[in-house]
Amino acid sequence: MAKKQFRTESKRILDLMVNSIYTNKEIFLRELISNASDAIDKLYFRSLTDQSVGMNRSDFAIDLAIDKDARTLTVSDNGIGMTAEELEKNLGTIAHSGSLDFTKNNELSEEIDIIGQFGVGFYSAFMVADRVTVVSRAYGSDEAWKWESAGADGYTLTACEKEAVGTDITLHIKDNTEDDDYDPYLETYRLDELGKKYSDYIHYP
Ligand code: ADP
Repeated sequence: MAKKQFRTESKRILDLMVNSIYTNKEIFLRELISNASDAIDKLYFRSLTDQSVGMNRSDFAIDLAIDKDARTLTVSDNGIGMTAEELEKNLGTIAHSGSLDFTKNNELSEEIDIIGQFGVGFYSAFMVADRVTVVSRAYGSDEAWKWESAGADGYTLTACEKEAVGTDITLHIKDNTEDDDYDPYLETYRLDELGKKYSDYIHYP
């Protein structure tokens, strides 16, 4: 299957993330949970005026699932989801104009500034994962799409099956190195800790 190329600026940020020397890699979970919460907000607000959504406030949730053998962590939400076009546009673009300026002007070693100052959203997943798979079904669509990338060399987008509306983001967690231990991201207790530390303000279970 043909790989699509990231735009230059996205590629640069991705490179930063893949080769990150940032010590606070754990913030990736905050970024993904925050995106999941935003996606749920969008569908929840819609449900207030649109009966056909057929969901109550208490139906919305963010799930974390670990598969230790496969070394995967999956963050799932039943929010608004993304169409194929949205997957391409949203996951191939740098949302924060500040971080874009940064990549033009600075060196890799100063990556800490970019993460600290602007956040890097979705791409922070690549600090802990060597491959990221996003399966999403947009509200109002009966198609689902799979976006997958192993880093700056590009991504693929293929049709797939997904029963419910929403998004599953699967992180294929990196193997440990001399300097970094990634195993804790496959441990429930650690994810609980990170959830409490960074995502306590999120108002969906
Ligand atoms: P930001 O959240 O700051 O806009 P991100 O890189 O984290 O930047 O995400 C880019 C965009 O991708 C979001 O604005 C949103 O439109 C979309 N997105 C990311 N995660 C999800 C998700 N779980 N469900 C729906 N849309 C998402």
